[in-house]
Amino acid sequence: MLGDIERILLDEGAILPRLEAMAAEISALYEGEELTVLCILNGSIIFAADLLRRLNLPLQLQCLHLSSYHGGTQSSGTVTFGALDLAALRGRHVLVLDDILDSGLTLQSIAQRLQQEAAPKSVRAAVLLQKRRKRAHAAAADFVGFEIEDEFVVGYGLDYQGRYRNLPFIGVLKRELYA
Ligand code: 5GP
Ligand code: MG
Repeated sequence: MLGDIERILLDEGAILPRLEAMAAEISALYEGEELTVLCILNGSIIFAADLLRRLNLPLQLQCLHLSSYHGGTQSSGTVTFGALDLAALRGRHVLVLDDILDSGLTLQSIAQRLQQEAAPKSVRAAVLLQKRRKRAHAAAADFVGFEIEDEFVVGYGLDYQGRYRNLPFIGVLKRELYA
């Protein structure tokens, strides 16, 4: 697996202190409130595990299976939703956790769906990564771990064709593996 990585962008030594700071920011913003964290599977699973343990807030966790990639490195342009317990989100502060903000389609779709169907008290988003690019969809994250260049990355939850999620760092996948 390591041989498939062109270069490491962020290792745990960089990621964990950043999550500590993000968690402090989030805990301060919601101080005195209760939160529902909506973890977007599968990509956010490791980000969520590391961030949640640093949040100093009463919270509930809900996971949502959602995908906009279907095997390749380009977004398919449609988002497939798994089951979502909308009733449990009514009147709650919802913080959506996603691994990476790319075109913005995923976050825009989920924010729209929540506002239309769940009547939450608020909806915000935290992403581990945000790509430096022009976004086709009007979506912004309230909390961003790192800004990265527009390259296809894997590891720390992010996959290519289902693999590499277990790498303990974020790295750029060698182009010849998908080009
Ligand atoms: P968006 O809907 O913002 O275009 O894309 C968000 C989703 O696309 C992410 O949740 C992630 O699953 C996937 N994605 C976008 N860029 C990358 C990338 O560089 N690497 C991987 N592995 N997935 C990505
Ligand atoms: Mg994803």
